[in-house]
Amino acid sequence: MRLSRSFLPTLKENPAEAQITSHRLMLRAGMIRQTSAGIYAWLPAGLRVLENIANIVREEQDAAGAQEVLMPTMQSAELWKRSGRYDDYGPEMLRIRDRHERDMLFGPTNEEMITDIFGQVVKSYKELPQVLYQIQWKFRDEVRPRFGVMRGREFYMKDGYSFDLDTASAVDTYRRMMLAYLRTFQRLGVRAIPMRADTGPIGGELSHEFLILAPTGESGVFFDSALEDQDWLAEAVDTADRASLEKFFTRMTSFYAATDEMHDAAAWAEVPADRQREGRGIEVGHIFNFGRKYTQSMDIAVSGPDGAPLYPEMGSYGIGVSRLVAAIIEASHDENGIIWPQSVAPFKAVIINLKNGDAQCDALCEQLYGTAPRALLYDDRAERAGAKFADADLMGHPWQLIVGPRGAKEGKVEVKNRRTGERTEETVEGALALIA
Ligand code: ATP
Ligand code: MG
Ligand code: MG
Ligand code: MG
Repeated sequence: MRLSRSFLPTLKENPAEAQITSHRLMLRAGMIRQTSAGIYAWLPAGLRVLENIANIVREEQDAAGAQEVLMPTMQSAELWKRSGRYDDYGPEMLRIRDRHERDMLFGPTNEEMITDIFGQVVKSYKELPQVLYQIQWKFRDEVRPRFGVMRGREFYMKDGYSFDLDTASAVDTYRRMMLAYLRTFQRLGVRAIPMRADTGPIGGELSHEFLILAPTGESGVFFDSALEDQDWLAEAVDTADRASLEKFFTRMTSFYAATDEMHDAAAWAEVPADRQREGRGIEVGHIFNFGRKYTQSMDIAVSGPDGAPLYPEMGSYGIGVSRLVAAIIEASHDENGIIWPQSVAPFKAVIINLKNGDAQCDALCEQLYGTAPRALLYDDRAERAGAKFADADLMGHPWQLIVGPRGAKEGKVEVKNRRTGERTEETVEGALALIA
């Protein structure tokens, strides 16, 4: 994309309405604009990051055996009356009436709808297990929407749902999803720590929240620093094998990690003092086994081996895709702007032309740009170098390819790494190989 013609409205000043770094930087880098309280439009750079995150989530869900579906945002109140949640959910649910006076709602989550669809399709125990997911907009009428997309009212979520025949199989599914989540967050370039979460009346150990550390996080967190050092992408787990899944899960849960709500001082005291970490965290994911709550209340059964009806065990698995955009920035920035992990960056690199109109500079920039016009941003504006550097740092491109008259004469490009600040001089081929 050529910056001179692009819709990337950067701001020099800090917007007054933004209280936290990520909100400030998302507005300043031209990623989003608010349209009403807690509701945002995504501009080209923001949308690219949102979709990059969604695609990594999608790849890991698919690899874990989940299948993607897309359910509507609008739901009928009838569905929620069947589970009994229509009255329980409260004012966070946006209720709407259509022209025929039928009660509708903008979905805050989809347990009822997926259970209903599952029930229409799956009739026999032989078709289990099933794991279905979608990446779709949700609406929750939060009392206090704040911090930009961190707590919006309309937000983008991956929500997955599993159906298993018995508890042992549901536990396998939960553990498989746990691994998929750990892999997903690692690929996004952030550390999200899995912490035991409250399972409510159901009990057991099958609920975890994933938190990214940041001083602005809403939860207090306590965890063993060993969790930060794990390489989940290298974890050898045979996800088709129950014993292998159990071994992985036992190892992972052996490291203490809890939010303030679940904190256990006695267990904490056993963590070696040099590995105790306390701070604040942002909830970016939540996985949960809730047994037969919805299949029973909505009377969705499959026929078992002897023909008798069986109610499948369910789990649900959420990832806050739009919240992650902000959470990644909270975890990865400096005083000059965003530092995008390569896997989610809106552009691989920015090409900075230090002397627009200089034939050699222009030609070298065009040569670089022509290799991947969709993946690269070309700063071809007639701006002074200082302004271009400031915008490049603000927008957080992982690499800057700097072309000036002296280098251009010899076909050389200066390559700056945004994270380390390191600069090297490269040939065109060398520069392209570095950013590949
Ligand atoms: P929170 O505790 O922040 O209100 P939640 O526990 O209500 O979140 P879940 O029902 O667990 O949220 O939904 C799954 C994920 O969706 C959350 O882990 C979070 O990342 C994301 N999410 C929830 N509410 C919002 C929101 N208002 N804006 C953006 N993302 C959200
Ligand atoms: Mg909430
Ligand atoms: Mg929560
Ligand atoms: Mg939650």
